[in-house]
Amino acid sequence: MNFSEAVRYLSILKKFILDILFPVECLGCGKEKEWICSSCQDKMKMDIFVARGVFLDKIIAPYSYDEKIIKQGIHLFKYKFVEDIGRDLGKIFVNGLEKLIKKNDFEAIVIPVPLHKKRLLERGFNQAEILASCVGNFFSWGVETNVLSRSRFTVPQVGLPKEERMNNIKEAFEVLDKNKIFNKKIVLIDDVFTTGATMEECAKVLKEAGAGEIWGFTLAKG
Ligand SMILES: [Zn+2]
Repeated sequence: MNFSEAVRYLSILKKFILDILFPVECLGCGKEKEWICSSCQDKMKMDIFVARGVFLDKIIAPYSYDEKIIKQGIHLFKYKFVEDIGRDLGKIFVNGLEKLIKKNDFEAIVIPVPLHKKRLLERGFNQAEILASCVGNFFSWGVETNVLSRSRFTVPQVGLPKEERMNNIKEAFEVLDKNKIFNKKIVLIDDVFTTGATMEECAKVLKEAGAGEIWGFTLAKG
């Protein structure tokens, strides 16, 4: 068996195990074979959060993390490694943003909040990157995944009080390619906005590297 065959078998095996552990059924109505069925996607209740940060010029989150489908969806996506659900969450994300921003309102570069290499290996994918590709596709904005990197490994922010979150994430990111962002409007993407420490830290290093206005979009507000 060569390497690419081995990778393919592993991914089939992973899917098989995930299907047993987490059978695919709609988180909203229980309908089989879909994570979030189209009728539940259309019925999603928005709870729009808009704010201004310190380095973030605007923060937009169309849903509340208390919404059952959002909460369970993000949990499965992030902690149970169910990558498929990312597309459904991305669709819901775009449905929400669409009501707040017009398609040709502005040009921007989409940057997902990066994961550290170690965390990426654990999870197999970056959840923010999947959401960013959905947003980029919809608004026809380019997605850059090699501009911002997470150079320092940090413990998860979940469970830390606000001040510790800021310290924990400090100097965790670096800009790898300043030319790509110079004077450009950036849309940062993450799954949940809680205290905003992570996104603010990203925005800080991007601005120090010469980026223009920075907006942060998250699927939900925690
Ligand atoms: Zn449903």
